[in-house]
Amino acid sequence: MISKVIKATVLSSIILFASCKEEQKTEDKSMTENILLREWTGPYQGVPAFDKMNVADVKEAVEKGMELQLEEIDAIANNTEAPTFENTIVAMESAGKTLDRVFTYYGILSSNMSSPEFREVQAELAPKLSEFRSKISQNEKLFQRIKTVYEVSQKNPLEPQEQRVVDLTYKQFEMNGANLDAEKKKRYAEINKELSTLYTKFSNNVLHDEENYVTYLTKDQLGGLSDGFIKSAAKIAADKGKEGMYAITNTRSSMDPFLTYSTERELRKQVWENYYSRGDNGDEYDNNQIIAEILKLRKERVGLLGYDNYAEWRLQDRMAKNPENAMDLMLKVWPAATARVKEEVADMQTVANELGDNITIEPWDYRYYAEKVRKKKYDLDSDEVKQYLQLDKLTEAMFFVAGEIFNYKFTPVEEGSVPVFHEDVKVWEVTDKDSGKHIGLWYLDPYAREGKRSGAWATTYRSSTTFEGQTNVLASNNSNFVKPAPGEAVLVSWDDATTFFHEFGHALHFFAADVKYPTLQGGVRDYTEFQSQLLERWLSTDKVINQFLVHHETGKPIPAELVEKIKKAATFNQGFATTEYLASALVDMKLHLADPTNIDIDKFEREALDELGMPKELPMRHRTPHFGHVFSGEGYATAYYGYMWADVLTSDASEAFKEAPDGFYDKAVADKLVKYLFAPRNAMDPTEAYRLFRGRDAKIEALMRDRGFPVPKN
Ligand SMILES: [Zn+2]
Repeated sequence: MISKVIKATVLSSIILFASCKEEQKTEDKSMTENILLREWTGPYQGVPAFDKMNVADVKEAVEKGMELQLEEIDAIANNTEAPTFENTIVAMESAGKTLDRVFTYYGILSSNMSSPEFREVQAELAPKLSEFRSKISQNEKLFQRIKTVYEVSQKNPLEPQEQRVVDLTYKQFEMNGANLDAEKKKRYAEINKELSTLYTKFSNNVLHDEENYVTYLTKDQLGGLSDGFIKSAAKIAADKGKEGMYAITNTRSSMDPFLTYSTERELRKQVWENYYSRGDNGDEYDNNQIIAEILKLRKERVGLLGYDNYAEWRLQDRMAKNPENAMDLMLKVWPAATARVKEEVADMQTVANELGDNITIEPWDYRYYAEKVRKKKYDLDSDEVKQYLQLDKLTEAMFFVAGEIFNYKFTPVEEGSVPVFHEDVKVWEVTDKDSGKHIGLWYLDPYAREGKRSGAWATTYRSSTTFEGQTNVLASNNSNFVKPAPGEAVLVSWDDATTFFHEFGHALHFFAADVKYPTLQGGVRDYTEFQSQLLERWLSTDKVINQFLVHHETGKPIPAELVEKIKKAATFNQGFATTEYLASALVDMKLHLADPTNIDIDKFEREALDELGMPKELPMRHRTPHFGHVFSGEGYATAYYGYMWADVLTSDASEAFKEAPDGFYDKAVADKLVKYLFAPRNAMDPTEAYRLFRGRDAKIEALMRDRGFPVPKN
């Protein structure tokens, strides 16, 4: 996961996070008194004053930041000189620096250090921020200037990076309706307003069903469950006023382990049905009608711009380019995935029969019997693996990889020299191994705490640009490991170690950036997970295993047999994982390609799955009535395929390393990787960049091999 730095994906975020220089108004009291608005001072080109930030300052700071940025935008729009690249595009790239700084603090207060007070401020600011974004995206004078620069550049092209900023900026405004006449613009804005209400309703309905369908167990219904799970289920029940019982909440983190381990088949069925019926209970919280409305409004909105369907509009600036390419990839993998499901179901049925369980595998049995097959086939003890995965050693391993591939050196900064927002946060300076050139700072916030969001993510507080002089990079990684007792090692699972490497991949993508303008830092949704997914692959290289995966007590490297078991188990249950994912991604695309007039969502989903030949033993990962990626906003609408798109690149690029003389540490391949796939970020078309790296387009075969599927013959 990455936050904040994905600048160019939507117009709002370009504007919100575009970096740069503002005119200092020293006479303004708030600028000097409100710490969040101040220029960053201190070493390393200035660093955020995390030790001094305060929730009480946020509202004023955000409002002041918006005001300053709107003044800058007005000045650009009302410039009496003819529009040029410098006075329009560069000026826009340079606007909004104060708000950008404020949002660094805002991000920490919302993700790392949240509180009820902050959430109140957040709710109050949300509509104001949305209004602020509209003021810029609907600024007619501003758009006319951008359009003039764009049109001139189509006849007399600029330097490549300059041209790319112009193209991306123009495209974002155009895709958001800037070219429409006044009447259509009005309708466009009305549709957006209606949609935002529907998105909120959709999310609230799902939330309602997650909170209100709790399954309570009695003491005699805990068969198969772990002590830790039982303890937390008891606590949740007690918190809900059911002392002495055990609560299975209607969320993935509760449902998934329960279905994997519970021996109570009838209860598994009930928990399964609650979970996969969210938003689909035929009551006032049912989402089917809302989805139909959303699809109609989306279609009408892109119709104003002249597009046939939403998918076509959405994918034009993605790597896939159009819905056909995305569908084509998914449909190539689909038959192998569903064929694997058949094999998995057969294996599970055998185990069930051996156990004397007189059943036929149903969807609420899949996880339960899959776990039994895993134990039988792979004999992998995850607790044994953990003894070799220490957080400190993994951190050293990542630095080692960064040194080999990127030529970076990580040195801890002197304690207290760089302000942090919590004592657990540690900071390293990143320099070039040979020249010693300063590149930036890496902040690591490793442990879970109250007010910190779950999961793991990477962000930047400052990105590298050169158009106003070379800036350094301030990047962070954030995780939720359990803090150990003093002096004890933090032991993590293989999955968590993989995620740790993944997020570090995002950080390296920030450090390696060699772009001129902030807009070129932006991510392309079906491409930004590629770099991070690729970095995961170094965890299981011999150099990392032998030096860093050592037993926390004996210091001995992890035994080869154990590594072999981990590698073998990697393709386990891929039928389930790939099919549940693809079913959701395919339905997402099909819904947006269909005619939404009189659409019956329930029927559409059923028929689409029938047509695909969806195996009856498992559901979509996200059924339509609770598919928040797609209907609680537009972030992943017709974009859920993007995970697999990026994974094709990941598998194909890792084969480039495997084929090289020095494998994953091959200097020639590493140099190309950094040069074409990390440094340019969005300054180069990703498809072109990949061709420069690989000498051809990515092929699907490597992904099929990685998932243990048969490779299709041409
Ligand atoms: Zn990621």
